[in-house]
Order: sequence, then structure tokens, then C-alpha cells
Amino acid sequence: MILPDYRAHKAPSRAAAIQALCEKMAQRLSTECPACRAPGFGHVNVEHGLPCSFCGSATQAIAADIHGCGRCTHQIRTPRNHALAAPEWCDYCNS
Ligand SMILES: [Zn+2]
Ligand SMILES: [Zn+2]
Repeated sequence: MILPDYRAHKAPSRAAAIQALCEKMAQRLSTECPACRAPGFGHVNVEHGLPCSFCGSATQAIAADIHGCGRCTHQIRTPRNHALAAPEWCDYCNS
């Protein structure tokens, strides 16, 4: 006698989310560090301080993503698309 797997039917979105997570991790593990060739090179940090579009001072908005290696100190900084932050993010303009 074969019992139907109710758990899989009850939580299809959760199963899909887990699969997506696994694929993301697998992709990261397959990414080699360009400096030392160790697997697992990926996103490790963000860099704040995007300049305010109104006054030019550094804000808390994210300016770039930092990808790094778990073995060596190699890091790559990838600037985000926007070059300036909206004044809403600026401490100076909002004080
Ligand atoms: Zn400002
Ligand atoms: Zn490395």
C-alpha cells in the first residue's frame, strides 16, 4: 500500500522556497574566488554612504555590494545602479 505524501501537498510554496535557497547556495558554492580559487565566493557585506542628491553628504543608503572570499581577504566592490541617494535618506537634509 502506498500512502500519499500529504506534507508535500500542504506546503508547495515552502518546498519551492527551499529548492530556490538550495540552488542559491549551490550557485555560491560553485563560484570560485578569483584570487585563490576557493569555492564559496559571494555576497558578504554592503557599503553605505551613497551621496545625497541634494547636499552631497554621505547617507545611510547602500552605495555598493561587497562580494568576498571565505579563505583569503580578496573582495570585489560592485556599485549599485543609482549614483545618488534621495534627500529622504540624508541625515543632514532631515535635521
Ligand atoms: Zn542631503
Ligand atoms: Zn580567496
